[in-house]
Amino acid sequence: MKLLIFILFVTVSQPSFAQELRIGLLYSLKVKRVSINLHQGNYSVIGDSTDLGKLSSMIVDITGKNVKVSFNGTYKTFEKIIVIQDTVNSALNVKALSPTSKQHYYRDNLEISSDGSRLRVVNLVDMDNYLSGVVESEGGGGRHIEYYKVQALMSRTYALKNEHRHKKDGFQLCDGVHCQAYHNMLRHTPKIMNAVKATVGKVLVDQSNYLVASYFSANCGGQICDAAHVWNTSVSYVETFIDTFCIYTPQATWTKSIDKSKWESFLKTNYGVTEEKYGDKIYNFKQQQRSAFYIHPSLGVPMRDLRVKFYLKSTYFDTCLEGSQVVLNGRGFGHGVGLCQEGAMNMAKLGYDYTQIARFYFYNVDIIDSNQNNFFDQGVSLE
Ligand SMILES: [Zn+2]
Ligand SMILES: [Zn+2]
Repeated sequence: MKLLIFILFVTVSQPSFAQELRIGLLYSLKVKRVSINLHQGNYSVIGDSTDLGKLSSMIVDITGKNVKVSFNGTYKTFEKIIVIQDTVNSALNVKALSPTSKQHYYRDNLEISSDGSRLRVVNLVDMDNYLSGVVESEGGGGRHIEYYKVQALMSRTYALKNEHRHKKDGFQLCDGVHCQAYHNMLRHTPKIMNAVKATVGKVLVDQSNYLVASYFSANCGGQICDAAHVWNTSVSYVETFIDTFCIYTPQATWTKSIDKSKWESFLKTNYGVTEEKYGDKIYNFKQQQRSAFYIHPSLGVPMRDLRVKFYLKSTYFDTCLEGSQVVLNGRGFGHGVGLCQEGAMNMAKLGYDYTQIARFYFYNVDIIDSNQNNFFDQGVSLE
């Protein structure tokens, strides 16, 4: 009976607007062993078609293409374990044991199987419960509700646009920054859940009614960056412009020193840019506005290559030589494309509502109700 209810739940709830999502948990950890414990409410555990009883706690191990469950003192092997809530608002604790992870908290249902080399732990979760976890993970605690609303709008748009991103893995989105962070460390606040509810179904679309690629980064450093700077692809709704809302915030500036020899070696080895040829110029650079290339495009050194090589917070930095060190004075944190989170937090504090914040960071966009539009075939991924 439970299995039948579960099948009905999945079958009925999946197709139309994808309000129930399949989120792959702890996937990047390549988990072999996981513990699952009841947090609140009631759950039943089903192994293939066998009802194993009520959940209090259990351990699941991978064994080839199957999973082995330790439950109520017995060990049994199944193709798939389903943990299904018997009452609404039930919640579970999940903790990887090999390798180990922190304990995470999830609402709704769980499905555990093997992909042959690791456990595939999937949270079958209501969209709004998922978004509460994402907004908490991406935005942190203690923010203004209008900021949480705009983050919920962005994250919902992202989820719908990228819902096929992990199709080959057997779920829709992963819980890491590859998709959207969904850490669920039990810091949900009523304010976050209220923000998700207040924007329920709302998504950001362009003038052709296509879901926007809802880029965001921690701090743009005072200038929003065109997507072409970062991914060699332009979109009509992201333009370069000055953002004064983030320039006095915590991550507005940074500095870093790098050995001159390492800097020169990188430029020389990869791009043939040497001190003999260009002199000290290769250590001294000022960006009045965001540049895609270091010093001059003719040198062929992309700023993003420097960021990756030297683990820099952003590509928006000046350089100068001080003794044996190249000193970098940088602005911002992240790629700087789309919504600037610290700028958005500041706008919210200053009294702007979430629609005004979204329209400040994205050009010529509309906020519409996803339940009145079918976005099912718009799944596009930026790998
Ligand atoms: Zn992912
Ligand atoms: Zn900014």
